[in-house]
Amino acid sequence: MTYVEKITKKNLLINGEWTEAKAYKPLYSPYSGEVLAEIPDATEQETALAIEAADRAKRVMAKLPAYKRAEILENLVQLLKERADEAAEIIALEASKPITAAKGEVARTIETYKFAAEEAKRIHGDTLPLDAASGGVNRLAYTVREPLGVIGAITPFNFPMNLVAHKVGPAIASGNTIVLKPASQTPLSAFFIAELLQQAGLPTGALNVVTGSGRVVGEKIVNDDRVSMITFTGSPAVGIAIRNKAGLKRATLELGSNAAVIIDQGVDLDKIILRCVEGAFSFQGQVCISLQRVYIHESLYEEFIEKFVPAVQKLKIGDPLDPETNVSALITPGDVERSLEWIHEAASSGATIATGGKAEGNILLPTVLVDAAADMKVSCQEVFAPIVIVDKVTSVEEAIQKVNDSRYGLQAGIYTNDIHTALNAIDALHVGGVMVNDIPTFRVDNMPYGGVKESGNGREGIKYAVEEMTELKLVVWNRN
Ligand code: NAP
Repeated sequence: MTYVEKITKKNLLINGEWTEAKAYKPLYSPYSGEVLAEIPDATEQETALAIEAADRAKRVMAKLPAYKRAEILENLVQLLKERADEAAEIIALEASKPITAAKGEVARTIETYKFAAEEAKRIHGDTLPLDAASGGVNRLAYTVREPLGVIGAITPFNFPMNLVAHKVGPAIASGNTIVLKPASQTPLSAFFIAELLQQAGLPTGALNVVTGSGRVVGEKIVNDDRVSMITFTGSPAVGIAIRNKAGLKRATLELGSNAAVIIDQGVDLDKIILRCVEGAFSFQGQVCISLQRVYIHESLYEEFIEKFVPAVQKLKIGDPLDPETNVSALITPGDVERSLEWIHEAASSGATIATGGKAEGNILLPTVLVDAAADMKVSCQEVFAPIVIVDKVTSVEEAIQKVNDSRYGLQAGIYTNDIHTALNAIDALHVGGVMVNDIPTFRVDNMPYGGVKESGNGREGIKYAVEEMTELKLVVWNRN
């Protein structure tokens, strides 16, 4: 019996207690449809209790010395290393993430908490030369960084462990408390980490986990005055609604994208084909920086299609727990239907399906579209599915213009052998991050990560998230 098979029911984590909820909902596997566990469907009142607990614990967390916060996170790193296989299995089962990718996510989660443990020890302010102003002579001035208090963390389904880590890790590192609302489809990863954090010695009430619908639990967290900051990762529609309700609360929004890569003339395609396949189809394309648009110089277009399409056709579809599987079920049957509609809309308006374009059960076959116009949904909206469009361009300038012709701007990639072309593209691309000689899908967990336009605002990547989760306080001593 696997770890997840032993789970039948989970409870809410409120003030350090696993608390019975008033109502529960079954959690289904996106791949097989079987029930994985019964999950609390919390009410507004239950969410309020979690916020109250986090609010009470905030003084304890704010007073916890840096070395103790680091120690708790180090303990978590150790526990997670010991239980990495179980962690990967949880992700694979609840998200239908192929197990090899799930293992990769766990390895990254371990690194993320390790970065958080290290960052806990280097949160500091600056000393300020106030005597640079004529009115500032004979004053000693410095800044300190203080925790905000209660952080409301709302997370999506697609990286259920590592994106929780990007919120819980820096929040603990900087002495905050947390109310965590994980995506309804992937609560088990969040509960698992919460269990490990209890063993790791986190003070009571510092982390509370409330599952339930976004409209009830999420909105209560966003609207409650005791919550000082919302850190949200998810879709632009929900993110924008949160921003509109958050008022003076700080809000970091990590939202979606339709990420693109530019391939300049002269690039050796044999070196990049498999990387492009990985970028477009990892976790069924359900990655915020998934490669959705390829803009390739016309001189390489035919060769790219000839090499890319067979490589895509080699991907193995199937059970997420099978180590051979590359592509498994989409998160809901509704997403399969929506993706098929978008493909059919494109095909009936002039695009050609080079491969894929149909589903087997809840699995959408990896799909490559050519001749898709810029205003088709598969081009201009976030597909969040295993679909990529390939488009030929006559110059890098044309490609840059097409990349920028988007509501989104998370990351972009450019392959080129010309340093001037790369430098010009870095200047011209309107995105949060430019990857030179790589796909836009590149991410490691200490880099500043976030977007412009409808891809959100604020940055994650531990050090940057710690800045967002702390308040700068100025101290001035008058020596006159
Ligand atoms: P989603 O539907 O927006 O859900 C994200 C979270 O918000 C879930 O916990 C959801 O709860 C909650 N929520 C829903 N309605 C809410 C409301 N009215 N108020 C407060 N919270 C609410 O996104 P998803 O489908 O899980 O994730 C996919 C999206 O995330 C994509 O757009 C992807 O690009 C984006 N993403 C961005 C990044 C990044 O770093 N930029 C990383 C990963 C994913 P329920 O699950 O209960 O609905």
